[in-house]
Amino acid sequence: MIKSNKNYIARKFSHIYVEKRAFDYPITQYILNKFSKSKVVAIENYNEIFSRKNQNPYVQKLSPSLILAEKKEGFFYKGSRLCHNFQEENFYYTNFILNCIFECDYCYLKGMNLSSHIVFFVNLEDYFEKINILISEKNKVYLSISYDSDILVFEGIYPFFNKWYNFAKKNQGVTIEIRTKSANWKKFTNYDPISNLELSWSISPEEVINKFEKKTPNLEARLTATSNLLKKNWKINLALDPLIYTGKTWRNTYYEFLKYLVSRINLELINSITVGVFRIPVNYLRRMKRFSDSSVVFFPYETIENVASYPEDIKEEMLNFVVSFLEEYFDSEKIYVI
Ligand code: SF4
Repeated sequence: MIKSNKNYIARKFSHIYVEKRAFDYPITQYILNKFSKSKVVAIENYNEIFSRKNQNPYVQKLSPSLILAEKKEGFFYKGSRLCHNFQEENFYYTNFILNCIFECDYCYLKGMNLSSHIVFFVNLEDYFEKINILISEKNKVYLSISYDSDILVFEGIYPFFNKWYNFAKKNQGVTIEIRTKSANWKKFTNYDPISNLELSWSISPEEVINKFEKKTPNLEARLTATSNLLKKNWKINLALDPLIYTGKTWRNTYYEFLKYLVSRINLELINSITVGVFRIPVNYLRRMKRFSDSSVVFFPYETIENVASYPEDIKEEMLNFVVSFLEEYFDSEKIYVI
C-alpha cells in the first residue's frame, strides 16, 4: 500500500468566518493577525456555519474553524438546574465563547451544539452593559462565565481576562466564576486577587482523565495550578464534578484520588468544593450516541425528568463516599452537592 503524504485534516482554524459587523471591532483584527495563513470568509450570521444541519461535531473536532461574531441578544442566562448554584439566589451564566478544544467524552456541548467550530463573540462591552443592568436590578449577582467552553485555553488568542477582571473590580455587586481544567495559572500572577473573582478547578482521578478527558492537562498539572494560585491568595474552588463510574473498581479509583488530593492541597485554603455525578439532558445524550463510541455515553443511565444520570443506588453511593471523605478535611458547609 502506498501511503499518501498529504494531510487531509486541515489544521486548526485554517478557516476563520467573520460576521460582517464583527470586522468593526479592534479585537477582531487582533485575532485575525494571529492567523495570517488562515482563509478569512465574511458571513452575515454565525449560525450559517455554526448551526448548519447534518454536521458531525466529532469529526469537526479534528479541524474546527473559528467564527468571530457579534452577540446580539442573550447576554446572560439563569443558571440551569443541572449546575451548582453555590446557593446563590441570583445565579447566572454567560457565554462569550462557544465550544472547547479539549475533548471530554461526556461533554454536553457535543450533544447541544450542531458543530464543533469555536465561536468568539467579540463585543464584550455589550455584555458588560447588559450585566450592569442586571446587577442594578438584583443588587448581587453570581455569574459563571465559562459554562459553554473552557475559556482560559483561548486567552492567548482572545485576551478577555483583563476585561473581566477590571469589570469585577469596578462592580462589587457581581461575583465572577471561571471554571477550568487548564493548567494556565501563570497568567493570574500578573494580577492581584480580588474577592469577587473565583477560579474553579475541575479535577478527576488520573484514570478518568486518561479515559474520558482527552487533551486536558493531567491531574498533577491541575493541582500544581491550584496550589500555586492558593499561595498567591486567589479564591479557588474545586469541582469534583462529574464523578464518573469507572466500573467495580470506582471506589478504589476515587479513594486513591482523594488521598492524593489532600496530600497535595491544603484544603483549608479552598473556598468551596462542588461534587456531582455525571448528568446530562437526555436529548443531548441521544445525539452524542449517534457519533460517539465512548463507554461513558453508552452507560445504561436512568432518566428522570429528562435528565439522564446513574441509577439512584450508584449515585448515592458515589456521592456519600466522596463527601464523607472530604468532610474529614473540609468544612461540610462549604461542600455543595448536586
Ligand atoms: S473541558 Fe469542559 S467544556 Fe471543554 S470539553 Fe471538557 S467538559 Fe467540555
